[in-house]
Amino acid sequence: MRTCIGCRLRAPATDLLRFVAVGAGDVFRLQPDPKRRLPGRGAHLHLDPACFAQAERRRAFGRALRLTGVADTGLLAEHIRTVMPRGTTDDKASAPSSRPSKVGRPQ
Ligand SMILES: [Zn+2]
Repeated sequence: MRTCIGCRLRAPATDLLRFVAVGAGDVFRLQPDPKRRLPGRGAHLHLDPACFAQAERRRAFGRALRLTGVADTGLLAEHIRTVMPRGTTDDKASAPSSRPSKVGRPQ
């Protein structure tokens, strides 16, 4: 289990996007790591723009990754924008196929 640094909810690591900080000096770039292969300290976030916004607002990126400088969130924001979260279309709930019909019933 990992904690999303945006909404602070715990979730299986496979449900969260791992990312690491790349760079040296005072400027770091947040690098999405969907395959979980990059070395270094990572943090986790839901693939959800709302979680990203929360993390950014609370400056959670720097804290989670122990950064002292400025974190460039551009790559991470782009990744979250392009990967849509699953389960946004709920077609099971909206299917009207099983509605009983009163028409043509034998008397
Ligand atoms: Zn979250």
